[in-house]
Amino acid sequence: MVKDDCIFCKIMKGEIPSATIYENSDFKVILDVSPANRGHALIITKEHYDNIFQLDAETAGKLFSLATVVARAIKEETQCEGLNVVQNNGEVAGQTVNHFHLHLVPRFKGDNVSVTWKQGESDSNDLAELAKALKKRI
Ligand code: 5GP
Ligand code: ZN
Repeated sequence: MVKDDCIFCKIMKGEIPSATIYENSDFKVILDVSPANRGHALIITKEHYDNIFQLDAETAGKLFSLATVVARAIKEETQCEGLNVVQNNGEVAGQTVNHFHLHLVPRFKGDNVSVTWKQGESDSNDLAELAKALKKRI
């Protein structure tokens, strides 16, 4: 499926240019036009899926397999010391382009990139209850 008003669908069709690193029948890997750091790449599905809630498990498996290869290429080329894999789903989670994509963000000591959160608190009973409820759904 392709969505006419989707910026990443337009990139897939070649209507918007992109710095492409890799392409196969399922994915296109491009450099982010507003990178958090040099080497920030996006693995984008060729098909339009809004987010993880629409993506099928088989495509997701292939995607993460490709992510390992791309991550190593970015590390070799940029000499980054670390790398964050980030994937936002929904506006509330920071998704700005509603076409599934995985961010690979190379990290360097002293950079000002932030993808962390303040650690919260939990209750052991609630954790146990929630785990039980979720287990039933998987
Ligand atoms: P999100 O916030 O949805 O997880 O990430 C969307 C990403 O797409 C952002 O990091 C943004 O810089 C990138 N982006 C948006 N439009 C374009 C574009 O036209 N070309 C490229 N290469 N990246 C884009
Ligand atoms: Zn799309």
